[in-house]
Amino acid sequence: MTEASKTEEKKSLNFLEEIVETDLASGKYKSIVTRFPPEPNGYLHIGHASSICLNFGLAQKYGGYTNLRFDDTNPVTEETEYVDSIREDIKWLGFEWANEFYASDYFDQLYEYAVRLIQKGLAYVDDSTSEEIAAQKGTPTQPGRRNQYAERSVEENLRLFEEMRDGKYQDGEKVLRAKIDMTSPNMIMRDPILYRIKHAHHHRTGSKWNIYPMYDFAHGQSDSIEHVTHSICTMEFVPHREVYDWLIEKLEIFPSRQYEFARRNLSHTVMSKRKLLQLVNEKYVSGWDDPRMPTISGLRRRGYTPESIRDFAERIGVGKRENVVELGLLEFCAREHLNKIALRRMVVFNPLKVVITNYEGVEEILHSENNPEDPGAGTREMTFSRELYIEREDFMEEAPKKYFRLAPGKQVRLKSAYIIRCDEVIKDDEGNILQLNCSYFPNSKSGEDSSGIHVKGTLHWVNAKDCFPVQINEYDRLFTVEDPSGEEGDFTGYINKESLKIIEGALAEPALKNAVVHDRFQFLRKGYFTLDPDSTPAHFIFNRTVTLKDSWAKAGK
Ligand code: ATP
Ligand code: MG
Repeated sequence: MTEASKTEEKKSLNFLEEIVETDLASGKYKSIVTRFPPEPNGYLHIGHASSICLNFGLAQKYGGYTNLRFDDTNPVTEETEYVDSIREDIKWLGFEWANEFYASDYFDQLYEYAVRLIQKGLAYVDDSTSEEIAAQKGTPTQPGRRNQYAERSVEENLRLFEEMRDGKYQDGEKVLRAKIDMTSPNMIMRDPILYRIKHAHHHRTGSKWNIYPMYDFAHGQSDSIEHVTHSICTMEFVPHREVYDWLIEKLEIFPSRQYEFARRNLSHTVMSKRKLLQLVNEKYVSGWDDPRMPTISGLRRRGYTPESIRDFAERIGVGKRENVVELGLLEFCAREHLNKIALRRMVVFNPLKVVITNYEGVEEILHSENNPEDPGAGTREMTFSRELYIEREDFMEEAPKKYFRLAPGKQVRLKSAYIIRCDEVIKDDEGNILQLNCSYFPNSKSGEDSSGIHVKGTLHWVNAKDCFPVQINEYDRLFTVEDPSGEEGDFTGYINKESLKIIEGALAEPALKNAVVHDRFQFLRKGYFTLDPDSTPAHFIFNRTVTLKDSWAKAGK
């Protein structure tokens, strides 16, 4: 490798990769350990996907490993359903964790750490109410002040803390605080709360505990217990880093280090779990995995591939500045990958009957390529005959000059089949178009065309004899504005009322009868689609993943 290309490579490292390389080069760590620490209080979303790709990606790149740690220190909100969905989503994204841990596994160890701090005179039991504690804390410009409880003896603190554990006190009666610095410019350093009393059932520890550790006294210690070398979190934890380091230093435990990057936000959606839960509870969507949700399960049901989501995470990268990424970029990543892997199929959404009046033969078998981008994908058989369906929108009775689809007297090619000409329009008494009578050119067959006829339009079609009805769910973005949370009023006021358009009675070519859930297709001229898990052999439902082109960009919305 030349010097120039070495620097080139160096430049393309993100700031976390640089930190890791420095730490490995200096021998600070022999190998790295990262963790992904979701709180099991909701389904994972595309922002979490960034964090997953980052944590697992770093460990993979540098030969380390990643733990999955459920941050279940808050007993009231966590549910097993969420734990299961989180596991499934990470696996689906293509990552494997080395160990599965729960912060609640460390409750005994954390209790012991707390006792150690008390013994060192570095923690005390405080009887103040939360209002009193807030008032004594001061403001960013005014120092806080300690109260009389901070003067308690080690023995008294040990006894009271034990009694807190044993359930002698009610919720809110006492807390355990670290004795750090009530005058610190960092408000979080002003004797932060380490433990609170909560008589609540925990999904794993049941009713064993009457006290639960706060975030600041669980996260860093859990990292340390697991020997996590690089603990990566989002920017709002910058002020917590000082407490993180202080506790590790005072407890003299493994020196995990915290690094922060900016949250990844996506336009035209909301990401906070609270808001996503509201969408589910208030039935704006059908569930956490509704294909309009920015959740990983929603994206999966929508037809996104893990590859496209990883590509998206890679493209937006990591940085220190928060920004909103255009939803269009995620859709672009989907198109990029789907174009390579999706099988091409024909589905007519709004059928118009075409009769080929000069077609005498029996059913004819044609071959159409499954994917022009992938020669290995082969071809499929299709049948052609006298009665077909084309898209109603592909016909215009009075067409402008530059109209290249079908019109009276005009000619088009039917994909993988023949060139046809529209000879006659059949209407009912009210003037509705019922059928087109067309003729075909027998010597114009795709691949062996000797007709010498040049047409500009190619239409998708299905054979009336073997097509079958399917339901199409056309999904669009869930919100009409870029940042629904940043707008006036409740974010639900900005829901896109046309985010789901259901089309019944679309007609599909027979090859689609073999579709299984999560197969991906390109319906020619229509977009990318996937089979919905609610489909049955009697009722196929296809979800639109994305259109073929970015229609929003064009519409200037
Ligand atoms: P919410 O605020 O919606 O409840 P959270 O950040 O509390 O989300 P956690 O389950 O605590 O959700 O997150 C697990 C990990 O994912 C954390 O390390 C968190 O920093 C990271 N994460 C969450 N949201 C994003 C995001 N939008 N971009 C990048 N990382 C994120
Ligand atoms: Mg959180």
